[in-house]
Amino acid sequence: MNEKTEMLNCKEVIKKLYDFLADEITVEDVLKFKTHIEKCGHCNEVTLFHKKLKEIVKNSTKETASEELKRRILASFEK
Ligand SMILES: [Zn+2]
Repeated sequence: MNEKTEMLNCKEVIKKLYDFLADEITVEDVLKFKTHIEKCGHCNEVTLFHKKLKEIVKNSTKETASEELKRRILASFEK
């Protein structure tokens, strides 16, 4: 846990993704987040996907949908 504390790993990025999209993370975390997705094509794709998805979810009243999706995304990193 001590090494590369400046860098977020993919799991941390995904955990922060919803906060990031909701503008609920610190400026410092936004920088770490952006640094990661610039270098990590997978997280970049996931972020773009969720930006679009957020627009869809915003138009939906099903609040449980995002929780389910978050679980699925996290699960995709368990391989
Ligand atoms: Zn990543």
